[in-house]
Amino acid sequence: MTAPTLAFTPEAILNRLRAEGLRITASRRKILEVLFQAGKPLSLQEIQDLTLVRRKGPDYATVFRMMTLLESLHLVHKVNLQRSCSYYELNDPKKHYDHIVCTRCGKVVVIDIPCPLRATEEHIARHYGFSALTHSLEFFGTCPDCGPLRPAKKRRSGGIDI
Ligand SMILES: [Zn+2]
Ligand SMILES: [Zn+2]
Repeated sequence: MTAPTLAFTPEAILNRLRAEGLRITASRRKILEVLFQAGKPLSLQEIQDLTLVRRKGPDYATVFRMMTLLESLHLVHKVNLQRSCSYYELNDPKKHYDHIVCTRCGKVVVIDIPCPLRATEEHIARHYGFSALTHSLEFFGTCPDCGPLRPAKKRRSGGIDI
């Protein structure tokens, strides 16, 4: 069975959930909105915080169930950020998701230059006889705001220079 090549939008996902026989609640709608607006992986706690409107919104269990459901339908995937909790991101089949993670401030950037691993992937597929390979990569490092390339802080003025 091939997946239909639908536009990857909140409405398309809601239709998919309806097709699974699920009720579209305000909470489910809001969670999807948050995922589409984020543009980066979010933890369950972050998703819950972002869905709050005037302190009202889905509880943690609701967020957890929704994300588990979306994951089972391959509409989101988990991203390994080497942190204690799981991070989730939308999984548009037409897009590719590799990340760079700053180990100091936690900033996550989705890499949108062409993936350098396509050739390696083909090589691996041929070598092991696998097909339809995919991957998701996380690079870890220090971002420009935290890194050694940042200009050194100005010397304190008013000191006594001898
Ligand atoms: Zn940083
Ligand atoms: Zn890649």
